[in-house]
Order: sequence, then structure tokens, then C-alpha cells
Amino acid sequence: MTATGAPRTIQDRALRPTTKVLPEHIRLNNRTLVLQTLYRTGLQSRADLARETGLTRVTVSDLISELMGENLVIELGQRQEPRPGKPATLLDINRAAFQIVSLDLSGHTRLRGAVLSLDGAVLSSSGLDLAGARGEAAFDTVAELLAQVIARATAPILGVGIGSPGIVDRAGVVRNAPNLGWRDQPLQARLQGLTGLPVRVVNDANAAVLAEHSFGGADHDLLLVKVGHGVGAGLLIGGRAIFGERFAAGEIGHVVVGTDDGPLCACGKSGCLEAWLSVPRLTKAIHDATAAAATPMDAERAISDILTEAGRRLGIILAPVVGALNLLEIVLSGPPELLDGALSAATVETLRSRTMATETGDLTLRMTAQGEDIVLRGAAVMVLSAQLGVS
Ligand SMILES: [Zn+2]
Repeated sequence: MTATGAPRTIQDRALRPTTKVLPEHIRLNNRTLVLQTLYRTGLQSRADLARETGLTRVTVSDLISELMGENLVIELGQRQEPRPGKPATLLDINRAAFQIVSLDLSGHTRLRGAVLSLDGAVLSSSGLDLAGARGEAAFDTVAELLAQVIARATAPILGVGIGSPGIVDRAGVVRNAPNLGWRDQPLQARLQGLTGLPVRVVNDANAAVLAEHSFGGADHDLLLVKVGHGVGAGLLIGGRAIFGERFAAGEIGHVVVGTDDGPLCACGKSGCLEAWLSVPRLTKAIHDATAAAATPMDAERAISDILTEAGRRLGIILAPVVGALNLLEIVLSGPPELLDGALSAATVETLRSRTMATETGDLTLRMTAQGEDIVLRGAAVMVLSAQLGVS
């Protein structure tokens, strides 16, 4: 049975069971359910929690004692009630008891780090220039930044979350990140060894989609396209991040758009999405068009054409994905001056014209409101999810 009392159907579970459910799984599931309810709604009494989760009051009281013992839940006084009788004691996650450390390694030249609250607010941030460091030197820079950020935490650290460019497997091994010169870099294990803290490493676009889900009010089915030095996407289906058979789900940057070739890509193919859409490519195209234009009006038109074509190419790549998954929500993350205008308008128009209107009529495409901190906040969601089971 689910929390709402409905029996589980094929729609909410994987097709073939692979493990039996043990009593400790049930206890962990219920503990997570209580924490998740408190994390999202705050201030609840034990009776509220029992009602909300469908658990018995005895089970809730028992779990709350355990969570208070771990300093994860606190009592915050009593509810003012008009009715006579013993007022209910209000509980919440102990939001000030722990902090999260996050790193964003996706910047082309600068790495960023921050201390965050359990609610995902950035409490302090720092950064280090990569200064062309690659391979082991890049790892040393990451370790140095991590030590700096950890030193700025003012409460015990729940864990460390890291958003890295490239292909990252479930063990936090960066299989391939050309910009950092990493192949099979066991980043998670090495940093865990260095710091003694629980560390989670995830691909930067996958981190971004988690931030949008937890803090951006996104629904359970969501595609986030992150446009920066490269282009990547994070996919959330039924509230689950999709990683793919080889951990490269969402790597749409080197998918060729259409059959008419296009600009040569760094990977050697012609017409990859990245060759149309990455920030360096768009910036250069706009710069060249501006220099070649005879009048400011010509320049404006040329820039609009460049952005429209890039948006159209993105729409062509996304259309089959939107159609196959019946997605209704797409979020763009990247420089708003490039993405938020002619480009996103062309993407929506292309998507609408290439998919079934009846099934994707409500399709929305919007810019993220998470700004530059999206990967840092998403990496924090990884920690919350891994350590507490909440998001
Ligand atoms: Zn390519």
C-alpha cells in the first residue's frame, strides 16, 4: 500500500522485482516518509504526521523518538488551540543542526563551492580558478576548494555534493570529463577518503534537474537543458532521475541535428547540437555577425537569426524526446541574454509544430529561476536524498 492507501500497481514500480522486502526496508521507508513530510510541510504534530502518512500514531511516535535522538527532528513548542485539552507539540526537521557543502565543477575556467542550509539556501560561497589545470592538477584544485568550503561551515556537515561535467557513474566515478582531463577518476571515493565525510558526485545537468525539482516547483516529469561551455540535459521521469545504461542519459550535446550537416564540432562530427548551441559557439557567431553588419539594424537582425536557428535546432533534437515521453515541462538553464528570447521562442514553436498538438498542447518551456547556483543547489539535493531520503 502507498501512503495514500491505494494499492500499488504496475504504474508505480519496476516490472520485475529483484529483491524481497525486509522489515528493515519497511522501517527505513516509514522513517523517510516522516522526514519527507516534515521537510516539505514543516511544523506538524505527531497526530498530523500519522494522518498525513497513513502510519499509526505508535509508529510515528517511535520514529520521532529515534529521529530526535539523532538531532534530526526537534520539538518547537505547542500549538495554540481554541479547543480545551492538551495542546499538540509541534515538530520540525532540525533545520539549523546541519549544513551541506556543494561544489560545481562545470564552469569552464572557475570552480565554485558553497555552504548551504538544509533548505537549499546558499549561506556562503567561494571559488577557485582552474588556471588550465587538468588531470591530477585539476583534482588538487578541487580538493583545495573543498577544504576551503568545509572550513566555512558553521554547523556539522551532513554531506558533500558535487556536480561534475562529463559522464559520472553511480559510484561517483567520473568516467570521462575532457575539460578536466579526467578518465575513470574515482572522485567520490577519493574525496570521501580525504574528508571523512559522505560525498556524492553527480553529472552537472543531473544535479541541475534535481534543483529544479526540489526548489523550482517543477513537476515529476521534467527535462532540463543546461547550456554552457557544452550542452547537456537532465531528465526526471515519475520523480526519478534517469541515468541510462552507461550513465550518459541526457548527453544530447553530441547528437547530430538533422541531415544537413552543420558546423564542425570539437568531437569531429558535423552539426552536433553543441556546435549550434554552446555558449562559446553562440557568442562567437554573434560577435562575427556584429562585426560584419553594415548597420546596427542589420546586426540586430543577424543576431536574431543566429538565436532563432539555434533554438530551432534544439527543438528538432527535443521533439522526439517530448513525443516519446509525453513531456509537458522543459526548463532551460544558462545565460538568459542568449536563451531567453528568440532562441526559446523558436524552440517552443519547433516543438509544437513537430509533436502531436493534442498531447503536448500544454507544453511549457521556461528559464530556470535558480540562476547560477543551480548545480550547487542540486548537488545539495543529492546529499539530502542520500543522507535523509528527502528532497
Ligand atoms: Zn559533437
